[in-house]
Amino acid sequence: MLKIESFDGKSKNIKGCLSCAMTSGEIDFSRAEIKVTKHFNAHQDYETPIPGFIIVASKRHVLSLSEFSDAEQKEFIRLIRALREGMRQTLKVKYVYLFQNEDTKHHFHLWMFPRLGWMDRFGKGINSVEPIVKYAQKNMKTKDNLKKIEESVKKMRVYMEKVIMG
Ligand SMILES: [Zn+2]
Repeated sequence: MLKIESFDGKSKNIKGCLSCAMTSGEIDFSRAEIKVTKHFNAHQDYETPIPGFIIVASKRHVLSLSEFSDAEQKEFIRLIRALREGMRQTLKVKYVYLFQNEDTKHHFHLWMFPRLGWMDRFGKGINSVEPIVKYAQKNMKTKDNLKKIEESVKKMRVYMEKVIMG
C-alpha cells in the first residue's frame, strides 16, 4: 500500500500504481481531469497544488514511450501539442518544462510543468523543480490557490473540448 495525498488534501491508500488506480476507477480524480482520450488521461498533478501543472498519463501500464503503439504515439503528440497551446492561450504560461522519468513507482506519465513568476526565487532549470514542488506541497494548499487550480482546470477543459483528437 502506498499512502498518497492529493493536492487538495485528501489522503488515500493505493495498491501500487497511481495512474492505474485512476484508469481503473480505484481513485476518482475526475474533479481534476482536463482531457481523457482513448489512450491517455491529462489532469492536474495529483499531489502538487500548482495551477497549470498538468500530467499526461498513459492508460496502459507501460514505463517508456518506446512501448507506445503507433496509435498511442500519434495521439500522444497531438494531445501534448494541444495542451501546451492551451496553457499558452488560456493560462498565459510562457514557458513549460517537460519531464518524464521511467524509473517511477507509477507508470508512464509526462510532467507539463509551468514556469510561473513566483518560481524565480528558486532559480531556473531542472534543479529548481524539486524545491518548487516541495514548497507548493507544504504551503499552497490554501483556499485561494485551490480555487485558482479549479479555474485553471476548467479553462483547460473548455479549451481541450474544441480539440479534435482524430
Ligand atoms: Zn500502472
